[in-house]
Amino acid sequence: MINKDVAVLGAGIVGVATALHLQTRGRDVALIDRRGAGEETSFGNAGIIERATIYPYLFPRDWRKLAVYAVNGLNEARYNWRDLPGFAPFLWRYFIESAPRRALDHALSARPLIEACLGEHEKLMRDAGADHLLRKTGWLKLFRNEASFDEGRAAAEAIKPFGLNVAILDAQDVRRAEPALRETVVGAVHYLDPASVSDPQALTLAYLRLFQERGGRFAQGDARSLQADSDGYVVETAEGVLHAREVVLCLGPWSDLALAPFGYKIPLAVKRGYHRHFRPEEGASLSRPVLDADRGYLLAPMARGIRLTTGAEFARRDAKPDYTQIEKSEIFARQLVALGPRVEDEPWMGRRPCLPDMLPVLGAAPRHKGLWFNFGHQHHGLTLAAVCGRLLAEMMTGEKPFADPSPFSIERFA
Ligand SMILES: Cc1cc2nc3c(=O)[nH]c(=O)nc-3n(C[C@H](O)[C@H](O)[C@H](O)COP(=O)(O)OP(=O)(O)OC[C@H]3O[C@@H](n4cnc5c(N)ncnc54)[C@H](O)[C@@H]3O)c2cc1C
Repeated sequence: MINKDVAVLGAGIVGVATALHLQTRGRDVALIDRRGAGEETSFGNAGIIERATIYPYLFPRDWRKLAVYAVNGLNEARYNWRDLPGFAPFLWRYFIESAPRRALDHALSARPLIEACLGEHEKLMRDAGADHLLRKTGWLKLFRNEASFDEGRAAAEAIKPFGLNVAILDAQDVRRAEPALRETVVGAVHYLDPASVSDPQALTLAYLRLFQERGGRFAQGDARSLQADSDGYVVETAEGVLHAREVVLCLGPWSDLALAPFGYKIPLAVKRGYHRHFRPEEGASLSRPVLDADRGYLLAPMARGIRLTTGAEFARRDAKPDYTQIEKSEIFARQLVALGPRVEDEPWMGRRPCLPDMLPVLGAAPRHKGLWFNFGHQHHGLTLAAVCGRLLAEMMTGEKPFADPSPFSIERFA
């Protein structure tokens, strides 16, 4: 039997960062995943550390926009209508939680996390020797018509009171910032505070390496074998049965499956997303992620080429991939930037783990001593990984939490 203080289940960016923070606080930690580290959602995201997000992704409340969504008329979101009955309860709660008053409460709850998100990553990156992956060049939101540009400018103005820095760019400024853009847009908002990484999986692996160099153990195992015993928990791993006094569940989009046997039912749903890389044609390089807001896709310069990522697809977690969104995005993206050949034969698909209030579940299990949660970071799991790892480790080790964790408790779904 392997004995540890803590077993962290799930080695995506959230689990690895949590394991590091616990280890720094003197805990003997094992990290367990059924695959390698960073091979699921944390593999393929757009790489943005979204220091400028104040409001979480909200369910639209404009009925005209909803009507267009209803016929899959906007590329940024797509519904699989066959899966809708399964999704409807989540969508209804998402709609309710997106009401302006509630959305403001959620934003205020998450604000301390957003404020510290980049600083916490930078500390881990320094220790892990991964600073070279970080680009502090912000990201650009492009607009193709005056009406959407007006909305974009208003949204940018609204975050200035939070101490955030944005620049409003006209068409010429955009061209100067990103000379590779071939189409003329009306303007853009340049979010200056966020940063981005050139390889999200490499970042997860760099954190894992640091964890292992410091004596941490990584083992393959299935979190669904988790059971309580008299003195903590046991889980089966490829290296034998592992016993830990405490367990942290960081299973991202699969967290509900491991929780169900313990009697916790959570309204977790996934917003699926796709990526594909392209070799840039000569001169087609980008300095930062660029969101084509009116056409609903994003391009980010990455180690493997220019990564095209899609918006949200509402479908069952395990439904067959539907490449409609990424194929349409590719047509738009090729008009904007001189993209060369595709790097992969098939697009990658990932699943953003979402709760209806777009806040993570972070904290103690109310009915199981020693069981802890850190999952459900929706569109911002890379952004929030280091800071949420810190907050949970503070709670587990009796330190004063740097932020109020109560809004993230699983008990909000009781
Ligand atoms: C297209 C796209 C773009 C995105 N862009 C951004 C962005 O720019 N910025 C940002 O901050 N976020 C972004 N996100 C969201 C972000 O990627 C996720 O929130 C984040 O990766 C979630 O991390 P995680 O560690 O919780 O989950 P995961 O990375 O999915 O890790 C969960 C781990 O649990 C393991 N696991 C599951 N079940 C079991 C089991 N039974 N036993 C053992 N192990 C198990 C899996 O193998 C996996 O390694 C994007 C997501 C997508 C899809």
